[in-house]
Amino acid sequence: MQIRTDFDSANIQLESLADPQDIRLSIRKDPGPEGFFQWFHFRLTGAGGQPVALRIVNAGEATYARGWDGYRAVKSADRKTWTRVDTSYADGVLEIRDTPESDSVFYAYFAPYSAERRHDFVSQVLATGKARLEELGQTLDGEAMQCLVFGPDKPERTLWVIARQHPGESMASWWMEGFLSRLIRPGEALARTVLQTTRLMVVPNMCPDGSRRGHLRTNAAGANLNREWATPTLEKSPEVLLVRNRMEETGVDGFLDVHGDEALPYVFIAGTDGIPSWSDRLAGLRRGFDARLVSACPDYQTEHGYPKNAPGKANLSMASNWVGERFGCLAMTLEMPFKDNANLPDTVAGWSPERSALLGWACLDAWAAVLPDLR
Ligand code: ZN
Repeated sequence: MQIRTDFDSANIQLESLADPQDIRLSIRKDPGPEGFFQWFHFRLTGAGGQPVALRIVNAGEATYARGWDGYRAVKSADRKTWTRVDTSYADGVLEIRDTPESDSVFYAYFAPYSAERRHDFVSQVLATGKARLEELGQTLDGEAMQCLVFGPDKPERTLWVIARQHPGESMASWWMEGFLSRLIRPGEALARTVLQTTRLMVVPNMCPDGSRRGHLRTNAAGANLNREWATPTLEKSPEVLLVRNRMEETGVDGFLDVHGDEALPYVFIAGTDGIPSWSDRLAGLRRGFDARLVSACPDYQTEHGYPKNAPGKANLSMASNWVGERFGCLAMTLEMPFKDNANLPDTVAGWSPERSALLGWACLDAWAAVLPDLR
């Protein structure tokens, strides 16, 4: 029996394998002063048919310890289908109980999304001829910062959509597959209509280094990219600087930043109500976006979410606040659960890659509803 981490986005440290009923593990911290950790992803080998208890002994010190309440880990034997597995949290320890169906079973915080899959999918998108690839520059580990560009050369408006600023939030990549799938789907009337007038700038992965390294919230330099927007630097946060520079060239008429939330069992949007230039016009756009998304995808809701920022008190180092203030546009942070949508639970899968992708698909309806009024 072994614990393996020899693959993309792995994260676990072995403490003890002496007792299969008490396999002791710990999550490795991200670099950086905050010491973020919560994402885990590992493979258990040589345990087919044998009941095991996998115990993450430092779970109580994780960045969002509340995230473990009511949480169930996911597992997969084929790396295609991920299902929830018996999990409990008590006294600072997260315990996963399972009888692996084969000699190689993967366990993770949420269904992982690998760099290889992203390369496959981006290639598929480009092969349709419906998008161009812009390489905005590169990350600290030397990965290309990829931006897919859809729509006309002289657009009436430009939307920016980004995902995976926080690398441990892999549901954002599944969302992105759903969103992009709609844009490239042959004959898809809404996508064709939107792209007649609107340019879409899409960054599928804002933090490829952290994603590959198995981080929760930071890039290779230990920077939390969603706190870098006010003063990004080439040394610490080139991912943000490169995107921000390109935004200054294209302008931004609408912005969506896709995330996952560890604690809340709902899909919700954190708005930019606290930016200094918040206005009735932006509030109206937000209501229009919300109303259309609720009807296009009932997994979305507007009752539960983060408390609103007090007027003028928004943190402008966060992407949506910075973009909303700089460009005076509708800017939003979309959050999906790691657990499930408590309004519409799925006892087998919980929140899942499929549901993330369907939400991504539906978000084009919401954008289409507000497009004419964005400026
Ligand atoms: Zn996030």
